[in-house]
Amino acid sequence: MPVLRLESVSLAFNGHRAVDGLSLRLEPGEVYALLGPNGAGKTTTLNMILGFLKPDGGSIHVDGIDAVADPLAARARIAYLPETVMLHPALTAIENLGYFALLAGRKIDAATARNLLADAGLQDEAHDRRAQGFSKGMRQKVGVAIALAKEARLLLLDEPTSGLDASAANDLGQVIRGASDRGIAVLMATHDLFRVKDVARRLGILHAGRLVDERDAAAIGPVELERLYLERLAA
Ligand code: ATP
Repeated sequence: MPVLRLESVSLAFNGHRAVDGLSLRLEPGEVYALLGPNGAGKTTTLNMILGFLKPDGGSIHVDGIDAVADPLAARARIAYLPETVMLHPALTAIENLGYFALLAGRKIDAATARNLLADAGLQDEAHDRRAQGFSKGMRQKVGVAIALAKEARLLLLDEPTSGLDASAANDLGQVIRGASDRGIAVLMATHDLFRVKDVARRLGILHAGRLVDERDAAAIGPVELERLYLERLAA
């Protein structure tokens, strides 16, 4: 069973179709990048998957659950990392993880929290530091640890690579591969063609709310991808 299935999903704002007949399918462990410029409909798509917006048409299933009819049940299976992962600044990484896991209905002890943070790639010396001053990459790692703690089936990331340096982007790739190895499906929305190409296994190009291309990341080089992207957006 796919972890995420969108069938002909559409949503219009004031007669303008922000998402137009979008179909997507992510199997367990699949890492998918939804590429598109500002206004392509990426955030609207994530918001519909999360149940914050209701599509006008089509269906969305998360782990077999109808996300339109039962958004709470669907959301329980999703971990969402916005462009900036918000953590409580006064709490340490361990405490943040405990707190957010509890909000998701999971009680975890400090030893488990340490293991999850290590699995998410957060360096040991940061586990007991207050989150205030954490870099974007460190926040993402705590966010992934929260996803692991709540045993999410689907990880959604909005612009995960923006503002990351090369080393942090490389870390992100490893963390996402780790999540994927556990069977978590990962959907990233981004306009960063280059960084995301090393992380995602499948790429979809969204233009004016429509999926205009879809292919395996391994089958396309960076220069070819840029050319394809520009061609598809010009069409
Ligand atoms: P960005 O990277 O800028 O967030 P995006 O690909 O995520 O871009 P969306 O934010 O999903 O794009 O927007 C898609 C279209 O829908 C745009 O034309 C936008 O102006 C419009 N739109 C989005 N949200 C609303 C809203 N609440 N009311 C009216 N129009 C909206």
